[in-house]
Amino acid sequence: MSIGIERIRKSFGSFVALQDINLQLPSGELTALLGPSGSGKTTLLRIIAGLEQADSGLIRFNDEDISQRHVAERGVGFVFQHYALFKHMTVFENVAYGLTVKPKKYRPANAEIAKKVHNLLELVQLGWTADRYPAQLSGGQRQRIALARALAVEPKVLLLDEPFGALDAKVRAELRRWLRRLHDEIHVTSVFVTHDQEEALEVADRIVVMNKGRIEQQGTPEHVYDNPANPFVYEFLGNVNLFHARVKQGQSQIGNIALASPEYNNQDEQQGLAYVRPHEIDVFSAPQADAIKVKLDLITIVGPVVRLEALDESTGQLIHIELPKEQFKTLQLQQADTAWLLPRYSKVFLGEGI
Ligand code: ATP
Repeated sequence: MSIGIERIRKSFGSFVALQDINLQLPSGELTALLGPSGSGKTTLLRIIAGLEQADSGLIRFNDEDISQRHVAERGVGFVFQHYALFKHMTVFENVAYGLTVKPKKYRPANAEIAKKVHNLLELVQLGWTADRYPAQLSGGQRQRIALARALAVEPKVLLLDEPFGALDAKVRAELRRWLRRLHDEIHVTSVFVTHDQEEALEVADRIVVMNKGRIEQQGTPEHVYDNPANPFVYEFLGNVNLFHARVKQGQSQIGNIALASPEYNNQDEQQGLAYVRPHEIDVFSAPQADAIKVKLDLITIVGPVVRLEALDESTGQLIHIELPKEQFKTLQLQQADTAWLLPRYSKVFLGEGI
């Protein structure tokens, strides 16, 4: 089931939560709505679900306009941040719930419900919890049960609002990989809301970056990460260092360092801001022509990666660098040592000064 979102607007009083949203989400894809708090992600999800009415615009499932259809008639399944399992029901009863409350003529026979619930519990790898109560499960297990419950009614669209938001980092990371594998198996068109860029990059087929009720950019995670459309997306998708840059004839200059900027081939020099990710900087322990001379302020080892904070004493700028531990070791650098930096790559946005 594809989802079409056309010219959706929504205000709460005088506050405009969604400005003019247009999106096409292909059938079977897992899409992440990614953005900072208040950017309108949940509001958009609730409008797709039918829990909220847009002021104008429409929602299509396949080609059909379902904007006026009640939430119960849209065929959507939900998973929210707070599990919302029924405490007084067993896991089995929770997962079966959506089937048992169907009107009699649509309700499957008990044996069929039992078979389906057991299959779903196997799918979320929690078959052994059928007779337990939610309180006897971990947070991560409860979210997997919530997902099984949402899938029980065979939704055409699955909507997840920060489904792992309440869990600790390790469980969260496990569950996102698990969700990715599960989605590869069942291919139900899914939309999930997150403000965690790593989660979106890792899990989604498609990312929609939102800000202040607008879509800043959308595309595959790789495309959006490698080709951020604007400074907001660049900064939102990961750490970045900003340098003043002069651009002309397909080249940008950060100080005396020349880098390729093929998109700007103007004859006249223009000013801009160069965006350089921490892993796109080479570090040297001996002087290099044109390199930025820095003092190593902080060295942090995070597993196989070393993070450096380097101070450019001539400008006062703190530069963030990330490199593999093995590579860092060969440099034999220590805190307070002098080092030289050469950015390898930068993306320049014109018209901003530092
Ligand atoms: P978060 O990650 O914090 O949930 P979000 O991107 O999901 O943020 P929304 O929940 O969609 O953002 O909210 C967008 C804006 O609309 C927020 O500023 C919020 O305060 C406002 N808003 C949402 N629902 C209502 C409501 N029922 N009444 C008034 N304002 C609302």
